Amino acid sequence: MRHYHSALGLAAEVRPAQPVTLLRPHAARRAARYFVEKFPGTALYAVKSNPSPELIRLLWESGITHFDVASLKEVRLVRANAPQATLCFMHPVKAPEAIAEAYFEHGVRTFSLDSHEELAKIVAATNGATDLTLCVRLRVSSGHSKLSLASKFGVSVEDSAPLLMAARQAADALGVCFHVGSQAMSPQAYADAMALVRAAIVQAGVTVDVVDVGGGFPSIYPGMTPPDMASYFQVIKTHFEALPISYSAELWCEPGRALCAEYASVVVRVERRRGDVLYINDGAYGSLFDAAHVDWRFPVRLLRDSSVKPVPFSFYGPTCDDMDFMRGPFELPADVQPGTMSRSACWARTARPCAPISTASSRI
Ligand SMILES: *Cc1c(COP(=O)(O)O)cnc(C)c1O
Repeated sequence: MRHYHSALGLAAEVRPAQPVTLLRPHAARRAARYFVEKFPGTALYAVKSNPSPELIRLLWESGITHFDVASLKEVRLVRANAPQATLCFMHPVKAPEAIAEAYFEHGVRTFSLDSHEELAKIVAATNGATDLTLCVRLRVSSGHSKLSLASKFGVSVEDSAPLLMAARQAADALGVCFHVGSQAMSPQAYADAMALVRAAIVQAGVTVDVVDVGGGFPSIYPGMTPPDMASYFQVIKTHFEALPISYSAELWCEPGRALCAEYASVVVRVERRRGDVLYINDGAYGSLFDAAHVDWRFPVRLLRDSSVKPVPFSFYGPTCDDMDFMRGPFELPADVQPGTMSRSACWARTARPCAPISTASSRI
């Protein structure tokens, strides 16, 4: 892998005709250390946020010992790159074959579920194992978040008591987990969710050993400046300590975005300008999925000096589909012309890894 001091250096030296993903290991290391030192419990990296082997190794070396995996492919990937890591299979709908391989071949003991069917599946696929940590996923509001995770998974508090009791019977350790939605813009999201956790525990009258507050920890994007991360940790700690749970209960979280958002960016080239729309060489089918499909406004920067005032632009990606469109607005100097390089933060939300043509690393 080539190393450059800056993105500007790469753009000037190589003038890449294809998108280049730039890795910023120091930023992921810094984020990992922050969670390891400041979060009042254990932080699991949500691998689907950026399933890159280099990042997994780097997070492990920086003190992240637990990984939230969502597929068999992620189980195998983390096992191969961090053999000693603790893996937690936190997708509430799994294939029986995936559960069995995870349990018997990769030492996975923690599984999440949100239905009696999934509980029966886990018990059967592990041959009635007695060493399981089972986390019941509660449905909570995504009201404070920019990207909802509220409809797909989770049992409602009203329906949770029978499931918590059944999971308690089957589990060595019982957990309750939730996800407040991604990019939660207020710590209140966790306070509200913890109130639901409390209600569920009281209704079911079960002993809970793990409370997992999920992901949702925000990063900074144009037009989205969240409160300080420390205020999130404080709210979570206060509400965790007030829960009716065993004294030795553990607190977990599953940051994805907060650990990887600053790790990678992509250098693209402007191929054509049409008014305030720029045709660039990456887009909806590549590294910029979120910019196209959920209107995410990644930070962008022109890779040359310009004192011209920034104005709003939209982008078209390289395919022929109208859908390959990124509305933005992305603020760039008004004199952008074809051939100029610009750099955009890249954050792959999907399980598809960024598919860079080549990678390089840079310090800034
Ligand atoms: C996506 C996901 C995460 C990570 O969410 P972020 O908002 O990126 O922190 C954590 N847990 C689960 C179960 C997820 O699906």
